[in-house]
Amino acid sequence: MMRYNLLLKSVLERALKYYSRKAIYSRTFGGEKEYTYRDFYHRVCRLAWVLKELGVKRGARVGTFAWNNHRHLELYFAVPCFGAVLHTINIRLFPEQIAYIINHAEDEVLFIDEDLVPLIEAVADKLATVRHYVIMADGALPPTNLKPVHSYEDLLSSASSETYEFPGDLDEYTPAAMCYTTATTGNPKGVVYTHRALVLHSMAACMVDTLAVCEQDVIMPVVPMFHVNAWGLPFAATMVGATQVLPGPRPDPHLICRLIQERKVTLAAGVPTIWLGCLPLYESGQYSGQSLRAVVVGGSAASRSLIEAYDRLGIPILHAYGMTETTPLVLASRLKSYMQEWDGERKYAARARQGLLVPGLEMRVVNERGEDVQWNGREMGELWLRGPWIAGEYYRDPERTAEAFAGGWLRTGDIVTVDEEGYVAIVDRTKDLVKSGGEWISSVDLENTIMAHPAVQEAAVIGVPHPKWQERPVACVVLKPEFRGRVGKEEILAFLSGKVAKWWLPDEVIFLEEIPKTSVGKFSKRVLRERYAHLFSG
Ligand code: ADP
Repeated sequence: MMRYNLLLKSVLERALKYYSRKAIYSRTFGGEKEYTYRDFYHRVCRLAWVLKELGVKRGARVGTFAWNNHRHLELYFAVPCFGAVLHTINIRLFPEQIAYIINHAEDEVLFIDEDLVPLIEAVADKLATVRHYVIMADGALPPTNLKPVHSYEDLLSSASSETYEFPGDLDEYTPAAMCYTTATTGNPKGVVYTHRALVLHSMAACMVDTLAVCEQDVIMPVVPMFHVNAWGLPFAATMVGATQVLPGPRPDPHLICRLIQERKVTLAAGVPTIWLGCLPLYESGQYSGQSLRAVVVGGSAASRSLIEAYDRLGIPILHAYGMTETTPLVLASRLKSYMQEWDGERKYAARARQGLLVPGLEMRVVNERGEDVQWNGREMGELWLRGPWIAGEYYRDPERTAEAFAGGWLRTGDIVTVDEEGYVAIVDRTKDLVKSGGEWISSVDLENTIMAHPAVQEAAVIGVPHPKWQERPVACVVLKPEFRGRVGKEEILAFLSGKVAKWWLPDEVIFLEEIPKTSVGKFSKRVLRERYAHLFSG
């Protein structure tokens, strides 16, 4: 066979060649925009001329601070195809973390959505490497003290209209993009994605047995483009010329449901909290989700009750698993052909697992003694991964690289079981497991069981230090508005008994208005753990 470099340039050029008439819809701060892949390609070319004009060199890092919109998509392709590295910055990090990652990545140019400018202004005096700020606005630039500052649209209008010749001589292992993941302790950790990884990951996302991304899809990533490449969907969707719907700033349940209905979205993706938020709007019949062939749910466990509730609406949930270090797609839960014959109970149990390993990757599940666990659905171990889109290190961080990547495997920190069919279930993150009297309690299992109670909207379970047992589980529960004040601890415990082992029953059930969320919308158990650290010690 030929030696052939897998480059994002081929994804971009294929989209122009075959899908120039297909549409990309984008909601921006000031309005909305719909254009074709042809228009998109020409703007990507202009953007590449702009990068050249700004003095960006191959390998330089270019930061983005933006929502899911067409300009962000243009950067997703222009920057890597130009030979530079797209650094998507999580807009929800703390200011000091934002400054840290921009400095650590040594971003030279920052592209910022107009409504997010104040967040960068707040840290600008700490930024050591940024040479240009480019504001992405629909109209005139907002007043700002960032310097030197440019308007994205002005730069594009004055750039050459000639087709940009993207370099074809890049090695496929050239860095294309990077993203920082929040660490439990210490600074965020950088993960670098190569061209090869992103192309192969896109192909994997297009496989029928995984996400089945295809030309006929209308794809809406609700998962942010500033975190883990919006699960790789912008790359995969462009590869096959799918229609794209980019929901723009602050997508809330009403907006998400409206766009799905109006734009006839076939595949949407986001964390469970988003779909929990949309559920009442669908259940009350305010919106129709009939165009959806699947909703990809990942980032945290999709509970069986969520899957069942969406099934009743005729919307299939496709459960998937991954992490920043894995680009992210690793597991997807589709039933095998003969499993379709199983009864409902068994089918739901399988679909609530995170699923089968995506082709191209290798996994091990290793117990505390360093042995591979039995595939019996019970024995727990840590999930280890390797493969072409699994990170090999943390960017410029030898110490934490040594911890997580020892022996050529990524140690995910996720504790899992594998059943006889090979379906992996995430039991917990190592740090979220409740360690009670030398045994492990899965906070995820408890949460999912509690969330099946009809009065419960959300539940997060944490381990709280306990003088006798080391830790005991505490459930933090948000009731649906109509049940607030009407359901108490006893009812939750009664509901759990018989469904989980007796010693798993939470010692305390705390009712909250809201579960605190992380920067990407997951339950922030760290905040809860801190809040209730002394519950049992007075
Ligand atoms: P962070 O949440 O730390 O910012 P990531 O977005 O990379 O970083 O999160 C990856 C983690 O999310 C995984 O290690 C795993 O614990 C959790 N996760 C992802 N998908 C699922 C899923 N389908 N079910 C349960 N946990 C999941």
